[in-house]
Amino acid sequence: MSIKAKLSLLLVCWSLLILLIANAIIYFSYVKLTENREMENLKEIGEGLLEKVNTNDLFSPSMRPLLQSVLRDDGMIRIIDKENQVIIRTGEEDDLFNLPINHSAVNDTDMIRLDGDMIVVFTAPIFKNNQRIGTIELSRVLDDHLEDIEILLTILIGVSVLLIVLAVFFGKITSRIFLRPVSVIGTTMDNIQKYGLFEKIQLPQKKHDEIFQLADNFNRMIDYLEEIFQKQEQFISDASHELKTPLTVIENYASMLNRWGKDNPDLLNEGIETIQDESKRIKNMVEQLLDLAAINKQPFEIEVINITELCKQTAKRLEVATNRSIRVINDSKSILGLSNKEKFVQILFILLDNALKYSQKEVTVKVSQNEDRAVIQIMDQGIGIPENDIPRLFERFYRVDKSRTRATGGRGLGLAIAYSLIKQSDGFISIESELNKGTIVTVTLKASM
Ligand code: ATP
Ligand code: MG
Repeated sequence: MSIKAKLSLLLVCWSLLILLIANAIIYFSYVKLTENREMENLKEIGEGLLEKVNTNDLFSPSMRPLLQSVLRDDGMIRIIDKENQVIIRTGEEDDLFNLPINHSAVNDTDMIRLDGDMIVVFTAPIFKNNQRIGTIELSRVLDDHLEDIEILLTILIGVSVLLIVLAVFFGKITSRIFLRPVSVIGTTMDNIQKYGLFEKIQLPQKKHDEIFQLADNFNRMIDYLEEIFQKQEQFISDASHELKTPLTVIENYASMLNRWGKDNPDLLNEGIETIQDESKRIKNMVEQLLDLAAINKQPFEIEVINITELCKQTAKRLEVATNRSIRVINDSKSILGLSNKEKFVQILFILLDNALKYSQKEVTVKVSQNEDRAVIQIMDQGIGIPENDIPRLFERFYRVDKSRTRATGGRGLGLAIAYSLIKQSDGFISIESELNKGTIVTVTLKASM
């Protein structure tokens, strides 16, 4: 069953229940109130009569005219002796003739159902010398009352049917209004699936309800998916592009060697060397890519590391390897931070490699602590980075000047790897730079107290 049908049905069921309860309350209150009023009336008439007459005279036939004048035609007064003999009976209502005789020790009013009629009965004992000698009984058929109840019932049923019809009608309209945005969402999803488009839902300007929220979340999710999709496409195209150049070089050298290499030892040596270089380039790049994929897939273990010590060791190793000068400035005490030892060294290698690659002068590493944060700054006095490029440096394969970095062997993956590693250590990385003056890369990690 569709939500629309379910909503309409639910609305009708609730309306029906509410109507039933309301009708029952109206019906029973009306019946009770009118019956009480009739009983009260008859009681007043009976007690009024008993106050007016001498009860000793009630058995006398001379009382008949008085008794007859007390009740209207639809009523009956009976004077009954102790032996259940009806001494006097007034009134012409046939329905009352069969009323069973009832004696009561005190004044009493009751409602009786007899042959489909509602009859209100008032009985009072008649005393003589403190001895009960009989009963006076006043009774009346409630014809009007039953008619009124029937009319009331007809009105209630009629109004209920009308209200149910209206509830069905308005239920349908209401569910259609409320579910229209949901069907728009459904259609949009269908289109996305069918045509592979990143289509978004048109949001109304005014409404800000739950369905608006749902559609808004959906749109944001589509934006996010589109961004991921575009990045993925960009990545595939960049990766293919990166692989294409060394593979073309390898292919060209291979065919050159095939044609002339066998007789030309110089070309043979040059070809083998170039193929080796380019293969290494491809291998390094694939390794970096696998590294990047692994970081996002398998989180590494976070431990307490001695940041000062690791910076010093790494700087020393790189100084020896590159024959360049790296100065480490630190507070007197060792600064401890939370990361992974191996991964932290990898981050330092990436950042120091950049600083050395893109500058000629001395590189500085500054380690300090700022409250609960350990701060590592790698500073160089090199070529710098244009301001516009800084926000995109952490994207895979992003290089500022492709021709120049190609000469330095960069593939634009180092900072993307460093960014992912730092993020997994719950840290931040930021870059400040000025063209031809130098660059400061700041890494902030949680300090261990
Ligand atoms: P890879 O690190 O993958 O070998 P790469 O160094 O080109 O290659 P990243 O480390 O990601 O890639 O750096 C991206 C780009 O940012 C570099 O190509 C370079 O243009 C620029 N860059 C990074 N660090 C510096 C720096 N210290 N000074 C000047 N430019 C820098
Ligand atoms: Mg690099």
